[in-house]
Parts: sequence; structure tokens; C-alpha cells
Amino acid sequence: TMQLERGAKKVIQRLLENGYEAYMVGGCVRDRQLNRTVKDYDIATSAKPDQVQRLFRRTIPTGLQHGTITVKVDDCLYEVTTFRLESGYADFRRPAEVQYIDSLYEDLRRRDFTMNAMALDLEGRLIDPFHGMDDVASRLLRCVGDASERFREDALRMLRCIRFAAEYDLDIERQTWHSLLVEAPLLAHIAMERVRMELERMLTGANPKRAVELLIESGLMANAKQPLLLAALEPGKLSPAWGNLDSVTTKLAYLYWHAGAGAAEAESELRKLTFSKQQLEQVRQVLAAAAGLSRQLAEAEAGTEASGESGEARLERAWKLTAVAFGAAAVEAVRNIAAADPAAWTKLGVSIDMSGSLAENGNRWLRDMPVQRLDELRINGKDLIALMNRPAGAWISQVMGHLLRETALNRLENEKEALLAEAGRYEAGVLRQE
Ligand code: ATP
Ligand code: MG
Repeated sequence: TMQLERGAKKVIQRLLENGYEAYMVGGCVRDRQLNRTVKDYDIATSAKPDQVQRLFRRTIPTGLQHGTITVKVDDCLYEVTTFRLESGYADFRRPAEVQYIDSLYEDLRRRDFTMNAMALDLEGRLIDPFHGMDDVASRLLRCVGDASERFREDALRMLRCIRFAAEYDLDIERQTWHSLLVEAPLLAHIAMERVRMELERMLTGANPKRAVELLIESGLMANAKQPLLLAALEPGKLSPAWGNLDSVTTKLAYLYWHAGAGAAEAESELRKLTFSKQQLEQVRQVLAAAAGLSRQLAEAEAGTEASGESGEARLERAWKLTAVAFGAAAVEAVRNIAAADPAAWTKLGVSIDMSGSLAENGNRWLRDMPVQRLDELRINGKDLIALMNRPAGAWISQVMGHLLRETALNRLENEKEALLAEAGRYEAGVLRQE
């Protein structure tokens, strides 16, 4: 990180030597002043993009339309952006047109929040015309200038507002919050992809719980291009611990679970939000596993009087069968969600005393399973075809599924002879009857 800063200073030095103004600006200044790790250094300069390109050996025109040139120094990358105004905001999105200017002050004025509108010169002097540091000291997040105007210029700033408030543990200044509530409907103009990127950053940030609560309170989720199912969340019902769940997809599954959305609904919404195939598949699996567990439990309960099975044994069996059907990863996520929020269990029809046992034993039960997946069985479909002398068909997966469940529950050895014998019995006894 020292190297990162040294490179930024080299870039600024070089611009100064050539008669231009240059400063560190934006997030890096904010994070440096707050003693937080700086992820990247952005530099603002009076030099025009072509002048920047001529001054440095290795440049990439990454954002030429915004006046941004990426400069590479000692293997680190720096975004060098010409002082600019943004004009002609259309459709409440950031403008396509920019106008280069000579004034750092004007460049800072176009930025979103006072703490993001500070600059640092090479001598380490802070330039803070909008008193960002005072605001941070009072734990306030405030728009630069007129908040309504700023949100109307670019509605994405409302999501950034919530993200920064949660990330930096700030209160949203009264006028800024009031304007956000008034302008919330403008979020409909923002592409779902950009909404998703902000959501994802909130969920991976320091305080996802606060971010989501602010999202709910602000009404922003109901005002997205496609109103989000998550708008049905009730903030008081979110458990304090859910924000610590391990991944974005587990957190999303938790939120949809609480919003009362099923696997298919959640999946279709996440697709609109442009989450990756892998992410939406993961969320879908977790929600489907939760529903599956609920079904397994209901079935086990219905059959229990005859068998005299204990509640604990019933739970363990339902749990293992769910793992076999939906995969261990999905079931583990279900356990983590429920451990983070015991009240979530009741939606699955799991009683409070069972829930403690599941949170405590769930992972051990999974580890104790001799097999969890079909490919772990010591026979496959070809062995079955040879054994039964029957053409391939749906019966194979039915038999294999049966064998997997029996071995997973420790009722059958995962050993070729035993598996083939059971396969023969099952095929003749159960499938032929159907
Ligand atoms: P982080 O990278 O941690 O999200 P950041 O402040 O660096 O925080 P960026 O999106 O990298 O955020 O933007 C860099 C700077 O550009 C910001 O600090 C802000 O000054 C300005 N900026 C970015 N997006 C906007 C926007 N939508 N409206 C106004 N200014 C913006
Ligand atoms: Mg940044």
C-alpha cells in the first residue's frame, strides 16, 4: 500500500513539473483522512487527456469520454481525470457529455457527498471546501449543495448514499435524507445492473443489516425499475446476526426467505437484477433446500406414530435427506441462516427446541453421512443396466436415488454387492409394482 501511494505521488509530481495542477481526490482522500485502507488512488488534474497521455509512458484510455486516462506506474494503476463539469443530465442518469475546466473547486462541487469532495495536494494539504471532515466528525453524510438537485442529476446517488452511510456508520443529514425520500421514485431510471452492483457492495460491506434497513425505510426497493420483492421485508424482523452470514448469496437467500419469496420468485428477480447464473443458482438452491426440509419434516412427522421415532432422529433423517436432494452446500447455508436467526425456523415448521439441536448438530450430521452424492456410490447406471438386463430409462435414476438415500442414512453399505442386491430388490419390489 505504501507503494500504491508512492506511485500516486509520482504521477502528481510529474504533472506538476509540467505546469499542470494535480491532486488526490475522492475516495482515497476520504479513506486516508479516516485512517482506512485506501483501495485505489484517483487523481484529478488540469491537464487534458491527450496531455496526460503524452506525459506518461504507459497509459490506457479507460474512460476517455469522462476525461479519464489510466496511468501505470511501477505496476500500479491510477485513474487520472481532467477537472470537469458534468452537464446536460438526461433521464436522471449521469451525463454523457463532460466539459473540461480549470478549477479544482468546480470539479469537487460536482461530486456527490461532502466527504467524497475533498482533495489532497502533494504536500499533504487538505482541500475541503464543503467541510467534509466536519461532517464526518459529526458522523454525518451530506450531499454537496442542494440534495434534491444532486439526486435528480443522478438517481444512483441515493443508493450510494445508503451504502456510504452503512459502510462509514454515518447518519444521513436531515435535508439529504428528506430529499432522498422525495426523489426515491427516480431510482426507476437506473439500470438494474447498477442497482445490483450497489446492492452487492452493501451486502459485502461493513454493515449489511443497516444498509438493508435504510433501503427498506427509504422505499428505494419499491421504486427500482422492477420493484423488488425485497420491498416486502419488515426491518424489525431481521435478526441482528444475519449481516454476518458468510456470502452474498446466503444473505440474499435469508432476505428472500424473510420477504416470503419462494425459490422461483427469487431466482427470477435476481436474474432481472443481472446477478450471475452461479449466484442465482446458489440462492435458488438454498431456498429450495429450506422448502425441502420443511416437506421432509412434515412427511417424517406424519409417519412417526407408527415408527415411534424420536423427534431428534426424525430431524436428523429429514436433514440428511434434504442434503442428498439439494446438496451439502445449500443445506449448510440453511443451517447458518437458521443459526443466525432462530425465528426463521418457524417458517420451516421447526419447533424452537428442535432448532437448537439443528443449529448445534446440523454440520456434524452432514459430516457423518457416508455419502452425499450419486457419484460417491460404488455402482452406476451401467452396472444397473447390466444387472437388470433392462434398457436405460427413468427407472435408473429412481433406483440410484433410492440407493443414495439408503446409504446416506446408514441403512445400506456403500459396497458393490450390497448395492446391487438392494437395487434388485427395489426394482422388482417397488418399481415393477407401480
Ligand atoms: P469506493 O470506491 O470505496 O466506493 P469512492 O468514493 O472511491 O468509494 P467511486 O465510485 O470510486 O467511489 O468514485 C470516486 C469518486 O468519484 C467519489 O469519491 C466521488 O467524489 C465521485 N463520484 C463517483 N460516483 C459519483 C456519482 N454518481 N455522483 C457524483 N460523484 C461521484
Ligand atoms: Mg473508488
